Amino acid sequence: MPIESILEGLKRFQKRVYPKNRELFQKLALGQRPEALFITCADSRIDPCMLTQTKPGELFIARVIGNIVPRYPKTIGGVFATIEYAVGVLGVADIIVCGHTDCGVMKGVLNPEALESLPHVAAWLRQAQPARRAAEKSKGHLTGPEFLLALTELNVVQQLDNLRTHPAVIARLEQGSLRLHGWVYHIGNGIVTAYVPDLNKFIPIRTPKIQRAKLRDTDTKVTRKRKRA
Ligand code: ZN
Repeated sequence: MPIESILEGLKRFQKRVYPKNRELFQKLALGQRPEALFITCADSRIDPCMLTQTKPGELFIARVIGNIVPRYPKTIGGVFATIEYAVGVLGVADIIVCGHTDCGVMKGVLNPEALESLPHVAAWLRQAQPARRAAEKSKGHLTGPEFLLALTELNVVQQLDNLRTHPAVIARLEQGSLRLHGWVYHIGNGIVTAYVPDLNKFIPIRTPKIQRAKLRDTDTKVTRKRKRA
């Protein structure tokens, strides 16, 4: 997309979109109170606000290749500062880590040799190697796109674990005022799956299935408790 078409888009925004939403933008000019921190890949095919149908001011967004959250205190960088600010100052109630299908970064994790000429990318992606090892261990029987999806999912789970090492996140989790969510966005069909820790798997969001699965799991736990009692 050449810059001319980007400037055309800006013109359309100022001429049509802004006047229709003037009140919202004037209110936003005074401050923000986003409801969630959305951490996703820098991939151009992901539009968090379109995907979640949120308006400006509702999502605090951290975009970084591979939606990787370094473990605390391994490296101090933009992702750390973004999390600390979102959780400690803005007081978001939810953090969503969202991976996606056909992620070039995850393909890079599988072929680190191809990244020799990109030392910073290679160093960044080394942080996803624990997810690769986990995928090889538990999903080693899968190949091609199925293995790539398994790695993408396990990478999201790994980043949720990494989030739990951040002091600001730990403090809010202890207060019970923060929830963590792991998602994978399937670009081709618009489906988003969510990680269900009790089941240790990803299930499509907003289907009765996820509710049933949760209920089934709760039932099993209750039954187990009853049996023990
Ligand atoms: Zn990606």
